[in-house]
Amino acid sequence: MRLWTCAVAALSFGCFFSIFDLVHAQEGTTTQISSSTSYSCDPAACQLTSNCLCASSSPPNGLDPKDTPQFVVVTFDDSIQETLYTAAQQMLNVINPNGCKARGTWYVSMQYTDFSLVQQWYAQGNEVADHTFSHVGAPSEQEISSAKSMLHEYGGVPLNKIQGFRAPFLNYTADTLKQLSKQQFSYDSSSSASSDNDNFWPYTLDHGMANDCWTGVCDANFKLPGFWEFPMYAVMNNASVPQLMDVYLSGTADDVTKWSLDTFERHYNGGRQPFGIYVHPTHLASYPGLPDPKPLLDSVVNLIKSISEKKDVWVVTNQQLLQWMKNPVKASQLANQPYMKCEQPVLPNEICNGLDDNHSGGVDESLLNNCNFGTSNFKTCFNCPNTAPSLSSPTPGSTMQNGTAGYRYTVPENCDTTWWDPIGNKCNCDTTATNCEYKNEALPTNKTTGSDGNGGSSDASSTLLPVSQLALLITLVALVTLY
Ligand SMILES: [Zn+2]
Repeated sequence: MRLWTCAVAALSFGCFFSIFDLVHAQEGTTTQISSSTSYSCDPAACQLTSNCLCASSSPPNGLDPKDTPQFVVVTFDDSIQETLYTAAQQMLNVINPNGCKARGTWYVSMQYTDFSLVQQWYAQGNEVADHTFSHVGAPSEQEISSAKSMLHEYGGVPLNKIQGFRAPFLNYTADTLKQLSKQQFSYDSSSSASSDNDNFWPYTLDHGMANDCWTGVCDANFKLPGFWEFPMYAVMNNASVPQLMDVYLSGTADDVTKWSLDTFERHYNGGRQPFGIYVHPTHLASYPGLPDPKPLLDSVVNLIKSISEKKDVWVVTNQQLLQWMKNPVKASQLANQPYMKCEQPVLPNEICNGLDDNHSGGVDESLLNNCNFGTSNFKTCFNCPNTAPSLSSPTPGSTMQNGTAGYRYTVPENCDTTWWDPIGNKCNCDTTATNCEYKNEALPTNKTTGSDGNGGSSDASSTLLPVSQLALLITLVALVTLY
Protein backbone atom coordinates (compact mmCIF):
# COMPACT_ATOMS: atom_id res chain seq x y z
CA MET A 1 0.00 0.00 0.00
CA ARG A 2 2.80 2.38 0.77
CA LEU A 3 4.43 1.79 -2.59
CA TRP A 4 1.10 2.31 -4.19
CA THR A 5 0.69 5.67 -2.46
CA CYS A 6 4.22 6.47 -3.31
CA ALA A 7 3.63 5.97 -6.99
CA VAL A 8 0.25 7.55 -6.86
CA ALA A 9 0.45 10.99 -5.39
CA ALA A 10 3.18 12.08 -7.79
CA LEU A 11 5.33 10.63 -5.11
CA SER A 12 7.72 8.62 -7.10
CA PHE A 13 10.22 11.16 -5.82
CA GLY A 14 9.57 9.93 -2.29
CA CYS A 15 10.79 6.53 -3.38
CA PHE A 16 13.43 8.05 -5.57
CA PHE A 17 15.22 9.66 -2.70
CA SER A 18 16.26 6.42 -1.16
CA ILE A 19 18.07 5.67 -4.40
CA PHE A 20 19.42 9.17 -4.57
CA ASP A 21 20.69 8.93 -1.03
CA LEU A 22 22.60 5.78 -1.85
CA VAL A 23 24.29 7.37 -4.81
CA HIS A 24 24.95 10.43 -2.82
CA ALA A 25 26.27 8.54 0.17
CA GLN A 26 28.69 6.69 -2.07
CA GLU A 27 29.99 9.91 -3.45
CA GLY A 28 29.96 11.61 -0.07
CA THR A 29 31.93 8.92 1.68
CA THR A 30 34.67 9.01 -0.93
CA THR A 31 35.11 12.72 -0.05
CA GLN A 32 35.44 13.71 -3.66
CA ILE A 33 33.41 16.77 -2.96
CA SER A 34 36.16 19.28 -2.44
CA SER A 35 38.90 17.61 -4.46
CA SER A 36 36.91 17.39 -7.68
CA THR A 37 35.65 20.95 -7.63
CA SER A 38 37.02 23.78 -9.62
CA TYR A 39 35.25 26.22 -7.30
CA SER A 40 37.30 29.17 -6.21
CA CYS A 41 36.10 32.49 -4.85
CA ASP A 42 38.03 35.35 -3.31
CA PRO A 43 36.05 36.89 -0.42
CA ALA A 44 37.97 40.13 -0.82
CA ALA A 45 36.68 40.50 -4.37
CA CYS A 46 33.21 39.03 -3.79
CA GLN A 47 31.33 41.12 -1.24
CA LEU A 48 27.74 41.52 -0.18
CA THR A 49 27.85 45.22 -0.98
CA SER A 50 27.90 44.14 -4.63
CA ASN A 51 25.47 41.24 -4.06
CA CYS A 52 28.20 38.63 -4.14
CA LEU A 53 28.94 36.03 -1.47
CA CYS A 54 31.42 33.17 -1.60
CA ALA A 55 30.41 29.69 -0.47
CA SER A 56 31.56 29.33 3.14
CA SER A 57 30.74 27.33 6.24
CA SER A 58 31.18 30.47 8.34
CA PRO A 59 28.52 33.16 8.76
CA PRO A 60 28.63 36.06 6.28
CA ASN A 61 30.43 39.36 6.93
CA GLY A 62 32.68 37.78 9.54
CA LEU A 63 29.87 37.49 12.12
CA ASP A 64 30.83 35.47 15.15
CA PRO A 65 28.74 32.26 15.16
CA LYS A 66 27.63 32.92 18.74
CA ASP A 67 26.08 36.25 17.61
CA THR A 68 24.49 34.67 14.54
CA PRO A 69 20.85 33.55 14.40
CA GLN A 70 20.39 29.81 13.99
CA PHE A 71 17.98 29.62 11.07
CA VAL A 72 15.80 26.58 10.54
CA VAL A 73 13.97 26.16 7.24
CA VAL A 74 11.03 23.80 6.99
CA THR A 75 10.09 23.20 3.36
CA PHE A 76 7.23 21.34 1.72
CA ASP A 77 7.22 19.94 -1.81
CA ASP A 78 4.59 19.24 -4.48
CA SER A 79 0.88 19.99 -4.73
CA ILE A 80 -1.04 21.91 -2.06
CA GLN A 81 -4.22 20.08 -1.06
CA GLU A 82 -6.30 20.41 2.05
CA THR A 83 -4.93 17.43 4.03
CA LEU A 84 -1.36 18.34 3.08
CA TYR A 85 -1.96 21.94 4.05
CA THR A 86 -3.28 20.90 7.45
CA ALA A 87 -0.23 18.70 8.11
CA ALA A 88 2.11 21.53 7.12
CA GLN A 89 0.33 23.95 9.47
CA GLN A 90 0.84 21.57 12.37
CA MET A 91 4.57 21.43 11.73
CA LEU A 92 4.84 25.21 11.89
CA ASN A 93 2.93 25.57 15.13
CA VAL A 94 5.86 27.12 16.98
CA ILE A 95 6.77 30.69 17.82
CA ASN A 96 9.90 32.61 16.88
CA PRO A 97 11.76 34.70 19.48
CA ASN A 98 9.86 37.85 18.43
CA GLY A 99 6.48 36.18 19.08
CA CYS A 100 5.66 35.67 15.40
CA LYS A 101 4.60 32.28 14.13
CA ALA A 102 7.15 30.10 12.38
CA ARG A 103 6.99 30.20 8.59
CA GLY A 104 7.74 27.74 5.85
CA THR A 105 8.38 27.50 2.12
CA TRP A 106 6.28 25.40 -0.25
CA TYR A 107 7.73 24.32 -3.61
CA VAL A 108 4.52 23.89 -5.52
CA SER A 109 3.85 21.69 -8.53
CA MET A 110 0.63 22.36 -10.41
CA GLN A 111 -1.25 19.09 -10.75
CA TYR A 112 -3.88 18.62 -8.01
CA THR A 113 -2.99 21.94 -6.41
CA ASP A 114 -5.85 23.93 -4.88
CA PHE A 115 -4.96 27.52 -5.66
CA SER A 116 -7.13 28.97 -2.91
CA LEU A 117 -4.76 27.19 -0.50
CA VAL A 118 -1.72 28.60 -2.32
CA GLN A 119 -3.18 32.01 -1.58
CA GLN A 120 -3.95 31.19 2.07
CA TRP A 121 -0.45 29.81 2.56
CA TYR A 122 1.06 33.00 1.18
CA ALA A 123 -1.38 35.28 3.02
CA GLN A 124 -0.18 33.87 6.34
CA GLY A 125 3.35 35.00 5.58
CA ASN A 126 4.67 31.74 4.19
CA GLU A 127 6.59 31.46 0.95
CA VAL A 128 5.23 30.13 -2.34
CA ALA A 129 7.92 28.84 -4.69
CA ASP A 130 8.12 27.07 -8.06
CA HIS A 131 8.45 23.29 -8.46
CA THR A 132 7.56 23.08 -12.19
CA PHE A 133 4.23 22.58 -13.94
CA SER A 134 4.23 18.80 -14.34
CA HIS A 135 6.86 17.72 -11.79
CA VAL A 136 9.68 16.71 -14.12
CA GLY A 137 13.43 16.66 -13.58
CA ALA A 138 15.85 18.69 -15.70
CA PRO A 139 12.88 20.97 -16.44
CA SER A 140 12.43 22.99 -19.60
CA GLU A 141 12.09 26.74 -19.69
CA GLN A 142 8.33 26.30 -20.07
CA GLU A 143 8.01 23.92 -17.10
CA ILE A 144 9.44 26.65 -14.88
CA SER A 145 7.59 29.63 -16.37
CA SER A 146 4.17 27.91 -16.58
CA ALA A 147 4.15 27.08 -12.87
CA LYS A 148 5.10 30.64 -11.99
CA SER A 149 2.29 32.01 -14.18
CA MET A 150 -0.32 29.80 -12.51
CA LEU A 151 0.83 30.60 -8.95
CA HIS A 152 0.37 34.24 -9.89
CA GLU A 153 -2.85 33.98 -11.90
CA TYR A 154 -4.82 31.56 -9.69
CA GLY A 155 -2.91 31.72 -6.39
CA GLY A 156 -2.84 35.51 -6.38
CA VAL A 157 0.85 35.74 -5.51
CA PRO A 158 2.55 38.80 -7.02
CA LEU A 159 5.09 37.71 -9.65
CA ASN A 160 7.96 39.45 -7.88
CA LYS A 161 7.23 37.48 -4.69
CA ILE A 162 7.81 34.14 -6.42
CA GLN A 163 11.57 34.02 -6.08
CA GLY A 164 12.53 30.45 -5.29
CA PHE A 165 12.74 27.16 -7.16
CA ARG A 166 13.40 23.51 -6.38
CA ALA A 167 13.84 20.92 -9.13
CA PRO A 168 11.64 17.80 -8.92
CA PHE A 169 13.74 14.81 -7.81
CA LEU A 170 16.39 17.48 -7.11
CA ASN A 171 17.30 16.82 -10.71
CA TYR A 172 18.72 20.13 -11.87
CA THR A 173 21.46 21.00 -14.34
CA ALA A 174 23.59 24.03 -15.08
CA ASP A 175 20.94 24.91 -17.69
CA THR A 176 18.21 24.86 -15.03
CA LEU A 177 20.11 27.40 -12.97
CA LYS A 178 20.78 29.60 -16.01
CA GLN A 179 17.11 29.49 -16.88
CA LEU A 180 16.09 30.48 -13.34
CA SER A 181 18.40 33.45 -13.39
CA LYS A 182 17.03 34.46 -16.80
CA GLN A 183 13.43 34.21 -15.51
CA GLN A 184 14.22 36.57 -12.60
CA PHE A 185 14.19 34.04 -9.80
CA SER A 186 16.43 34.95 -6.87
CA TYR A 187 17.49 31.51 -5.74
CA ASP A 188 17.50 27.77 -6.28
CA SER A 189 17.32 25.21 -3.49
CA SER A 190 17.97 21.86 -5.20
CA SER A 191 21.56 21.12 -4.26
CA SER A 192 22.68 19.09 -1.28
CA ALA A 193 25.20 19.68 1.46
CA SER A 194 26.10 16.32 2.88
CA SER A 195 29.49 16.60 4.54
CA ASP A 196 31.59 18.99 6.58
CA ASN A 197 33.35 19.87 3.32
CA ASP A 198 30.30 21.37 1.67
CA ASN A 199 28.12 22.50 4.57
CA PHE A 200 27.94 25.98 3.11
CA TRP A 201 25.74 28.91 3.97
CA PRO A 202 23.69 30.12 0.97
CA TYR A 203 25.97 31.81 -1.59
CA THR A 204 25.77 33.54 -4.93
CA LEU A 205 26.81 31.82 -8.15
CA ASP A 206 29.18 34.57 -9.24
CA HIS A 207 31.84 31.84 -9.21
CA GLY A 208 29.63 28.89 -10.06
CA MET A 209 28.45 26.00 -7.88
CA ALA A 210 30.29 24.65 -4.85
CA ASN A 211 27.82 21.86 -3.95
CA ASP A 212 27.03 18.58 -5.74
CA CYS A 213 30.43 18.77 -7.35
CA TRP A 214 30.43 14.99 -7.82
CA THR A 215 27.88 15.56 -10.61
CA GLY A 216 30.25 17.83 -12.52
CA VAL A 217 28.06 20.90 -11.98
CA CYS A 218 30.98 22.74 -10.35
CA ASP A 219 33.08 22.23 -13.46
CA ALA A 220 30.35 23.42 -15.82
CA ASN A 221 32.08 26.77 -16.08
CA PHE A 222 29.03 28.98 -15.72
CA LYS A 223 28.68 32.02 -13.54
CA LEU A 224 25.39 33.62 -12.52
CA PRO A 225 26.20 36.86 -10.74
CA GLY A 226 23.77 37.70 -7.96
CA PHE A 227 21.82 34.44 -8.24
CA TRP A 228 21.72 32.48 -4.99
CA GLU A 229 22.09 28.80 -4.22
CA PHE A 230 20.51 27.53 -0.99
CA PRO A 231 22.00 24.10 -0.29
CA MET A 232 19.78 21.51 1.39
CA TYR A 233 21.46 20.24 4.53
CA ALA A 234 21.55 16.48 5.06
CA VAL A 235 21.11 14.72 8.38
CA MET A 236 23.70 12.01 9.06
CA ASN A 237 22.37 8.69 10.26
CA ASN A 238 24.34 6.44 12.62
CA ALA A 239 26.25 4.97 9.69
CA SER A 240 27.16 8.50 8.56
CA VAL A 241 24.99 8.12 5.49
CA PRO A 242 23.44 11.46 4.58
CA GLN A 243 19.64 11.62 4.62
CA LEU A 244 18.20 14.58 2.80
CA MET A 245 14.43 14.57 2.48
CA ASP A 246 11.71 12.90 4.54
CA VAL A 247 14.29 11.73 7.05
CA TYR A 248 11.42 10.43 9.21
CA LEU A 249 11.03 7.55 6.73
CA SER A 250 14.58 6.34 7.21
CA GLY A 251 14.44 4.94 10.75
CA THR A 252 12.50 4.69 13.98
CA ALA A 253 11.18 7.95 15.43
CA ASP A 254 13.77 7.78 18.23
CA ASP A 255 16.65 7.18 15.84
CA VAL A 256 15.60 9.91 13.42
CA THR A 257 15.15 12.39 16.27
CA LYS A 258 18.62 11.59 17.59
CA TRP A 259 20.30 11.87 14.16
CA SER A 260 18.49 15.14 13.49
CA LEU A 261 19.36 16.68 16.86
CA ASP A 262 23.01 15.58 16.53
CA THR A 263 23.26 17.19 13.10
CA PHE A 264 21.45 20.28 14.35
CA GLU A 265 23.95 20.60 17.23
CA ARG A 266 26.84 20.42 14.77
CA HIS A 267 25.39 23.42 12.93
CA TYR A 268 24.45 25.25 16.13
CA ASN A 269 27.84 24.75 17.80
CA GLY A 270 29.73 25.07 14.52
CA GLY A 271 29.27 27.70 11.84
CA ARG A 272 25.56 28.20 12.59
CA GLN A 273 24.75 27.12 9.04
CA PRO A 274 20.98 26.93 8.55
CA PHE A 275 19.35 23.62 9.40
CA GLY A 276 16.68 22.17 7.15
CA ILE A 277 13.68 19.89 7.52
CA TYR A 278 12.54 18.92 4.02
CA VAL A 279 9.16 17.30 3.83
CA HIS A 280 6.80 15.73 1.31
CA PRO A 281 3.70 16.30 3.44
CA THR A 282 1.81 13.56 1.66
CA HIS A 283 3.60 11.04 3.90
CA LEU A 284 2.22 12.83 6.93
CA ALA A 285 -1.38 13.40 5.87
CA SER A 286 -4.34 11.11 6.45
CA TYR A 287 -5.81 9.17 3.57
CA PRO A 288 -8.78 6.89 4.01
CA GLY A 289 -7.74 3.26 4.03
CA LEU A 290 -4.06 3.98 4.59
CA PRO A 291 -2.14 3.61 7.87
CA ASP A 292 -2.57 6.48 10.32
CA PRO A 293 0.38 8.84 9.75
CA LYS A 294 -0.09 10.57 13.10
CA PRO A 295 2.89 8.95 14.87
CA LEU A 296 5.13 10.04 12.00
CA LEU A 297 3.68 13.54 12.00
CA ASP A 298 3.99 13.77 15.78
CA SER A 299 7.67 12.86 15.63
CA VAL A 300 8.36 15.66 13.11
CA VAL A 301 6.23 18.16 15.07
CA ASN A 302 8.07 17.28 18.28
CA LEU A 303 11.44 17.56 16.59
CA ILE A 304 10.64 21.06 15.33
CA LYS A 305 9.31 22.02 18.76
CA SER A 306 12.40 20.89 20.61
CA ILE A 307 14.75 22.57 18.12
CA SER A 308 12.80 25.83 18.19
CA GLU A 309 13.07 26.06 21.96
CA LYS A 310 16.80 26.67 21.75
CA LYS A 311 18.09 30.20 22.12
CA ASP A 312 18.37 32.24 18.90
CA VAL A 313 16.56 29.68 16.75
CA TRP A 314 14.33 31.16 14.05
CA VAL A 315 12.08 29.06 11.83
CA VAL A 316 11.91 31.03 8.60
CA THR A 317 11.14 30.88 4.90
CA ASN A 318 14.00 30.75 2.45
CA GLN A 319 13.01 34.26 1.34
CA GLN A 320 13.35 35.56 4.90
CA LEU A 321 16.73 33.88 5.07
CA LEU A 322 17.63 35.49 1.75
CA GLN A 323 16.77 38.93 3.13
CA TRP A 324 19.06 38.26 6.06
CA MET A 325 21.85 36.92 3.81
CA LYS A 326 21.81 40.17 1.83
CA ASN A 327 22.13 42.25 4.97
CA PRO A 328 23.22 40.07 7.91
CA VAL A 329 22.47 41.33 11.42
CA LYS A 330 23.21 39.84 14.82
CA ALA A 331 20.61 37.58 16.39
CA SER A 332 19.92 40.31 18.93
CA GLN A 333 18.79 42.64 16.12
CA LEU A 334 16.70 40.21 14.13
CA ALA A 335 13.38 40.63 15.92
CA ASN A 336 12.78 44.09 14.51
CA GLN A 337 13.81 43.50 10.91
CA PRO A 338 10.81 44.32 8.71
CA TYR A 339 10.89 40.87 7.05
CA MET A 340 10.57 39.15 10.45
CA LYS A 341 7.43 40.98 11.52
CA CYS A 342 3.96 39.48 11.44
CA GLU A 343 1.40 42.13 10.61
CA GLN A 344 -1.95 41.50 8.98
CA PRO A 345 -4.32 43.96 7.33
CA VAL A 346 -7.33 45.24 9.23
CA LEU A 347 -10.17 45.39 6.72
CA PRO A 348 -13.82 46.37 7.23
CA ASN A 349 -15.24 43.34 5.43
CA GLU A 350 -14.33 40.04 3.82
CA ILE A 351 -12.41 40.30 0.57
CA CYS A 352 -11.00 37.36 -1.36
CA ASN A 353 -7.43 37.62 -0.06
CA GLY A 354 -6.73 34.31 1.67
CA LEU A 355 -7.55 35.64 5.15
CA ASP A 356 -10.52 35.64 7.48
CA ASP A 357 -10.96 39.42 7.32
CA ASN A 358 -14.34 39.54 9.06
CA HIS A 359 -13.45 36.98 11.77
CA SER A 360 -16.32 34.73 10.82
CA GLY A 361 -14.20 31.61 11.24
CA GLY A 362 -14.10 31.08 7.48
CA VAL A 363 -11.59 32.23 4.88
CA ASP A 364 -13.02 33.95 1.78
CA GLU A 365 -16.35 32.27 2.44
CA SER A 366 -18.70 32.35 -0.55
CA LEU A 367 -16.20 34.39 -2.56
CA LEU A 368 -14.24 31.51 -4.08
CA ASN A 369 -14.72 30.26 -7.62
CA ASN A 370 -14.80 26.52 -8.24
CA CYS A 371 -13.00 25.54 -11.43
CA ASN A 372 -13.85 22.03 -12.60
CA PHE A 373 -12.31 20.20 -15.54
CA GLY A 374 -13.10 16.58 -14.90
CA THR A 375 -9.75 15.35 -13.63
CA SER A 376 -8.45 18.70 -12.37
CA ASN A 377 -10.43 20.85 -9.98
CA PHE A 378 -9.38 23.78 -7.92
CA LYS A 379 -10.77 26.74 -6.01
CA THR A 380 -9.51 30.26 -6.57
CA CYS A 381 -10.25 33.90 -5.78
CA PHE A 382 -9.59 34.60 -9.45
CA ASN A 383 -11.29 33.77 -12.76
CA CYS A 384 -11.63 30.16 -13.76
CA PRO A 385 -9.91 29.39 -17.05
CA ASN A 386 -12.27 28.30 -19.82
CA THR A 387 -10.28 25.11 -20.35
CA ALA A 388 -7.89 23.05 -18.21
CA PRO A 389 -4.46 24.71 -17.87
CA SER A 390 -1.69 22.91 -19.74
CA LEU A 391 2.07 23.21 -20.01
CA SER A 392 1.86 25.21 -23.21
CA SER A 393 -1.17 27.20 -22.06
CA PRO A 394 -1.00 27.51 -18.25
CA THR A 395 -3.40 30.44 -18.02
CA PRO A 396 -6.00 30.05 -20.79
CA GLY A 397 -8.64 32.71 -21.35
CA SER A 398 -11.14 33.09 -18.54
CA THR A 399 -14.80 32.22 -18.50
CA MET A 400 -15.63 35.82 -17.57
CA GLN A 401 -15.31 38.95 -19.67
CA ASN A 402 -13.33 41.86 -18.27
CA GLY A 403 -15.77 44.52 -17.07
CA THR A 404 -18.70 42.17 -16.52
CA ALA A 405 -20.12 41.47 -13.07
CA GLY A 406 -18.16 38.80 -11.22
CA TYR A 407 -14.95 39.35 -13.17
CA ARG A 408 -11.84 38.91 -10.99
CA TYR A 409 -8.83 41.18 -11.40
CA THR A 410 -5.28 39.83 -11.13
CA VAL A 411 -3.10 41.22 -8.36
CA PRO A 412 -0.80 43.97 -9.68
CA GLU A 413 2.89 44.27 -8.79
CA ASN A 414 2.38 47.31 -6.56
CA CYS A 415 -0.11 45.57 -4.24
CA ASP A 416 0.41 42.58 -2.01
CA THR A 417 -2.03 39.67 -1.95
CA THR A 418 -3.57 40.38 1.45
CA TRP A 419 -4.52 43.94 0.46
CA TRP A 420 -5.87 43.12 -2.98
CA ASP A 421 -9.61 42.86 -3.63
CA PRO A 422 -9.86 40.88 -6.89
CA ILE A 423 -13.61 41.54 -7.17
CA GLY A 424 -13.53 45.27 -6.40
CA ASN A 425 -10.35 45.72 -8.48
CA LYS A 426 -8.92 47.67 -5.59
CA CYS A 427 -5.73 47.74 -3.58
CA ASN A 428 -6.55 48.56 0.03
CA CYS A 429 -2.95 49.55 0.66
CA ASP A 430 -0.59 50.11 -2.24
CA THR A 431 3.14 50.60 -1.92
CA THR A 432 2.79 54.39 -1.71
CA ALA A 433 0.03 54.45 0.94
CA THR A 434 0.85 55.48 4.49
CA ASN A 435 -2.42 55.04 6.34
CA CYS A 436 -3.00 51.31 6.00
CA GLU A 437 -4.24 49.68 9.16
CA TYR A 438 -2.27 46.68 10.43
CA LYS A 439 -2.66 44.32 13.32
CA ASN A 440 0.47 42.95 14.91
CA GLU A 441 0.03 39.18 15.31
CA ALA A 442 3.04 38.64 17.57
CA LEU A 443 2.25 36.69 20.71
CA PRO A 444 3.86 37.09 24.09
CA THR A 445 6.59 34.51 24.28
CA ASN A 446 9.30 33.36 26.58
CA LYS A 447 11.38 31.46 24.10
CA THR A 448 13.39 29.46 26.59
CA THR A 449 10.28 27.88 28.04
CA GLY A 450 8.76 27.30 24.62
CA SER A 451 5.23 27.88 23.54
CA ASP A 452 2.73 25.88 21.63
CA GLY A 453 1.54 29.00 19.88
CA ASN A 454 -2.19 28.63 19.97
CA GLY A 455 -4.19 31.28 18.25
CA GLY A 456 -2.86 34.45 16.74
CA SER A 457 -3.52 33.73 13.11
CA SER A 458 -6.40 32.63 11.03
CA ASP A 459 -6.42 28.90 10.62
CA ALA A 460 -7.97 27.53 7.51
CA SER A 461 -7.71 23.94 8.60
CA SER A 462 -10.88 22.23 9.60
CA THR A 463 -12.04 18.82 10.57
CA LEU A 464 -12.14 16.62 7.53
CA LEU A 465 -15.59 15.73 6.39
CA PRO A 466 -16.17 12.27 5.01
CA VAL A 467 -17.15 13.85 1.71
CA SER A 468 -13.75 15.49 1.25
CA GLN A 469 -12.07 12.20 2.11
CA LEU A 470 -14.10 10.62 -0.60
CA ALA A 471 -13.03 13.32 -3.02
CA LEU A 472 -9.42 12.61 -2.13
CA LEU A 473 -9.85 8.93 -2.68
CA ILE A 474 -11.35 9.62 -6.08
CA THR A 475 -8.38 11.84 -6.88
CA LEU A 476 -6.01 9.08 -5.84
CA VAL A 477 -7.79 6.53 -7.97
CA ALA A 478 -7.75 8.93 -10.91
CA LEU A 479 -4.02 9.28 -10.41
CA VAL A 480 -3.43 5.55 -10.47
CA THR A 481 -4.98 5.36 -13.88
CA LEU A 482 -2.76 8.20 -15.03
CA TYR A 483 0.47 6.62 -13.86
ZN1 LIG B 1 8.58 17.12 -5.90
